[in-house]
Amino acid sequence: MKTYDKIYINGQWVSPAGKDKVDVINPCTEEAIASVPLGNEQDVDKAVKAALQAFPSWSKTSVGDRSKLIAKLAEAIAARQNEIGDTISREMGMPSAWSRMIQAGLPVATLSSFVPILENYQFSYPMGRTEIVKEPIGVCGFITPWNYPLHQLVGKVAPALAAGCTMVAKPSQLAPLNAYIFTEIMQEIGVPSGVFNLVPGAGSKVGYALSSHPDVDMVSLTGSTKSGIAVAQAAATTIKRVTLELGGKSPNVLLEDADISMAVTKGVYNCFLNSGQTCIALSRMIVPAHKQKEIVEMAKAIVESMVMGDAFTDGVYLGPMVDDAQRQSVREYIRAGIREGATLVTGGPETPENLPKGFFVKPTLFADVKPDMIIAQEEIFGPVLCIIPYQTEEEAIAIANNSVYGLSGSVWSADLEKARAVARQIRSGQVFINGADFDIDAPAGGYKQSGLGRERSKYGLEEYLEIKALIAQNP
Ligand code: NAD
Repeated sequence: MKTYDKIYINGQWVSPAGKDKVDVINPCTEEAIASVPLGNEQDVDKAVKAALQAFPSWSKTSVGDRSKLIAKLAEAIAARQNEIGDTISREMGMPSAWSRMIQAGLPVATLSSFVPILENYQFSYPMGRTEIVKEPIGVCGFITPWNYPLHQLVGKVAPALAAGCTMVAKPSQLAPLNAYIFTEIMQEIGVPSGVFNLVPGAGSKVGYALSSHPDVDMVSLTGSTKSGIAVAQAAATTIKRVTLELGGKSPNVLLEDADISMAVTKGVYNCFLNSGQTCIALSRMIVPAHKQKEIVEMAKAIVESMVMGDAFTDGVYLGPMVDDAQRQSVREYIRAGIREGATLVTGGPETPENLPKGFFVKPTLFADVKPDMIIAQEEIFGPVLCIIPYQTEEEAIAIANNSVYGLSGSVWSADLEKARAVARQIRSGQVFINGADFDIDAPAGGYKQSGLGRERSKYGLEEYLEIKALIAQNP
């Protein structure tokens, strides 16, 4: 078991102000694999001061220098990709092959994408009599979750570095080890002192302190809608900019003429990726009522063929839930679905027979789900897919939009223009058409209660910029 006892402030590994610490548990084995310190308000204050001090010089660095540093960071993460992927597998349970590719691969891709964005971005330009100047917003506070922990952290660090901001990051208590590796890398590649600071800890303490700190100009959270509300409320008293990447309940609409076999296969694998612990999971499959039977049979066969087990066993697609609380919550949702009268096709709330240890939940498929049932409305964040039948295209669109969330979505049709027309009517930040692959260059973010602001692309960069108008005349 590895013990971390330091936090990272002003380019140094220092002891935190308090003595609190927490064990990091491997959810596949239920064993403690490491211990990390829990920071407090005093640590946040020190880290924010360091970031504030570093801001004047860092914000004046050239675009070329910042772009070189971002490219170097991408390279250094790529060099440790397998180690990072495996660390994340150990702390949150995603199967190692997927974790190396997604959990460690996406941060490299995100960082690399900001090099050309930065080089092509117009930081100043004339607008009539006025000159527009885009300037970094200042000190940023980052609060991140456990499900794609490094991807979420880098989704904030990359544009903040690009813009010339300085920052304090608070990773999730459940999966903080990747953030330690990331910080080591930031130190090794020579990110100037104070530009990046790491204060692990509880959301209610460190997260709150960051959100309410008067010297933090912007706070960005990826997490649940509940935490988003808390952060926005805490940030309100100091009028800081708030960006939020929150929960989802994303619809996957199969139109009448869709290629059912492709749509069901891709849709099921998408929903169960990372055991359903994915914010953009397509967790509601909305299907023509007269095809539901055929679709359910296909989906059942795929779900039952998925191998669940330890993150380091070959061929495993489904890992455990991140912790016992998450397992209990997902099982409770499965019970709610049964109680409300949805048809349980496969899975269920019981412990999987072959996996008595680890926080595993059986992959579960519900059919005949009604749009207003709890399992169709709330984010389950587990391996549960709801199949919802519809009669008309208008009804399918109405069901897709019958949600407080609006993060992602998907439409399938043999007619691309028709799919686009339906996609335009779905109120969410992204819509994938006919199984198109994830696009690292596309902006991502939520409508409605799925969030505020965008990450990635030039729109992600702009979240970290202030707009100044210079209105001048000759003396
Ligand atoms: P969570 O909201 O419990 O925690 C996220 C972070 O917020 C953690 O670091 C936590 O310590 C902190 N936090 C909790 N309460 C806080 C408070 N009162 N003040 C400040 N910080 C606080 O979420 P989670 O369980 O770690 O992650 C799962 C959730 O994240 C899901 O809802 C998922 O949809 C969402 N998510 C969204 C995206 C996206 O891009 N939209 C991506 C990944 C995850």
